[in-house]
Amino acid sequence: MPEEIMQNTHRIPVPLPGNPLKELNAYLIRGKDRNLLIDTGFRQPACREALFAGLRELGLRRGDVDVLLTHLHSDHAGLAPEAAGETGTIFVSSVDRLTLDNMAERQKYWEEADNRFREEGFPISMMMQIRDKNPARSMAPPTGGHYSSLEDGDVLEAGDYRLQCLLMPGHTPGQMCFWMEREGCMFLGDHVLFDITPNITAWPRMPDALGSYLRSLEKIRAYDVKLALPGHRRGGDMRLRIDQLLEHHKRRLEEAFSAVKNHPGQPAYFLAGKMTWKIRASSWDTFPVAQKWFAVGECMSHLDHLMVQGRIRKELQGGKAAYFAV
Ligand SMILES: [Zn+2]
Repeated sequence: MPEEIMQNTHRIPVPLPGNPLKELNAYLIRGKDRNLLIDTGFRQPACREALFAGLRELGLRRGDVDVLLTHLHSDHAGLAPEAAGETGTIFVSSVDRLTLDNMAERQKYWEEADNRFREEGFPISMMMQIRDKNPARSMAPPTGGHYSSLEDGDVLEAGDYRLQCLLMPGHTPGQMCFWMEREGCMFLGDHVLFDITPNITAWPRMPDALGSYLRSLEKIRAYDVKLALPGHRRGGDMRLRIDQLLEHHKRRLEEAFSAVKNHPGQPAYFLAGKMTWKIRASSWDTFPVAQKWFAVGECMSHLDHLMVQGRIRKELQGGKAAYFAV
């Protein structure tokens, strides 16, 4: 059921069954001729039903909207081509567009990501196990659709509103936030979430994703946001939350550093098992495989940042990563 959050602006909750994020927030801004839909949901039935029921409730049909994506993740982008239909445009940062509308690029990207996980000791049997079930891949949008690239600073008009595009790399290489200056309102995607911590992983062709993310947090802190509209769950006090996230990663960096110091010569798969996680599992061995993927990714992003800080170094020993405190 859509909820009006500002004049001519609605939140459409889209359930994410079986996913700890629970729900995606799609936002719809009514315009005179065209309407703008921000984010869509996974390409799967429950999301599709909820999104299109929400649009119908607002008197809109498929193809009545242009789609604006905060980032490439499938829970945001999965239904974009369907929602935009034949006539709509899908706006997304040029960086994240790369893997959305080009299947060859997408596959190359996934392969590069897999190579890194293999290098970090992630068991190949487990990789095979999650490959087909990984919602990031199985519920991604099909290629096709009319895409239009956004750059940092671009301005989009929707109804009476002006949205300034702010490139905030970190959660994904091309994550964008959309700023309505006059209203003091910010669409955040997954750059800042309030009762969950945005996942920061290592990305191919992005040497220090966590470093980029921390800089992007500092950058967005400068905006006087009165209404924060995150991609999942509810908003809150932006500056307070940014400070908590900065503090969180500082703590996690120390934890990753201690793991390296106490266990020299190990890859991220091993080191992740020495960090603390909120998942309910009695040990690293019994950790659900899909969650291991996220945990190891997060560990890698912290190791990469520690390397940039010069606190640890990495050796490749027979194709396997080994980290040492400096
Ligand atoms: Zn995301």
